[in-house]
Amino acid sequence: MTAMIKVEHLKKSFGKKEVLKDISANVDKGKVISIIGPSGSGKSTFLRCLNVLEKPSSGKIVFDGQDLTHINEKELDVLRERMGMVFQSFNLFPNMNVVENIKLAPMKVKGVSEDEAEKQALELLAKVGLKDRAEQYPSSLSGGQQQRVAIARALAMDPEVMLFDEPTSALDPEMVGEVLKTMQDLADSGMTMVIVTHEMGFAREVSDEVWFMADGYLQEQGSPEQIFENPQSPRAQDFLSKVL
Ligand code: ADP
Ligand code: MG
Repeated sequence: MTAMIKVEHLKKSFGKKEVLKDISANVDKGKVISIIGPSGSGKSTFLRCLNVLEKPSSGKIVFDGQDLTHINEKELDVLRERMGMVFQSFNLFPNMNVVENIKLAPMKVKGVSEDEAEKQALELLAKVGLKDRAEQYPSSLSGGQQQRVAIARALAMDPEVMLFDEPTSALDPEMVGEVLKTMQDLADSGMTMVIVTHEMGFAREVSDEVWFMADGYLQEQGSPEQIFENPQSPRAQDFLSKVL
């Protein structure tokens, strides 16, 4: 098994506050990993360290052989193409229609021609079930539709791994399913995914591994069955007794 991302003794502090205390873990190619755990435990910070939105205080993150702790600006641009990220808030460009939102980065960053970018954008929209929405503006779409556009936009860069930070947390309940379905399809297509989520049913169904984070540590890692049916640490037992 090849590790796509290796995390070694990662620590991250904000001022005096130590948020990530000593995290080591591997993300293997093609795997779907869900990170669960209480609010404030460092899940977002961990995800943001993976694609260097936050700079680790110490430790190492190695992506495809490259040490991300010593990366320069130019390398960082390339890295961001290879790692897609989807946030809780969809962050679409409000002044651009759906297809323009998706086309922008491939044209600007990768130098893809407009025709090619358009063709690819429409294919991606079909994939996320929004082919007929290409000309609409984000404000005319539901939250679930906007989040699916955000996923299509990230995929337009042809990333090797997709990071999701609570992609359904800002959605009305009736829209959660359509976004999870899109993510399930992506997982089925073999994409490597790291997903911070509170959707325990989804995490159980789709993940190859579940990581439980609390108090700045990865307290437990295992198969969905191991974590959900037989958690070992009191911290995980307590958390799961509240959310399941
Ligand atoms: P989670 O995603 O698990 O809810 P976060 O990673 O967002 O947790 O936050 C973990 C802790 O780090 C929280 O106490 C939060 O206030 C703190 N934190 C996160 N980002 C910053 C920041 N940029 N500056 C200061 N503190 C931060
Ligand atoms: Mg968070």
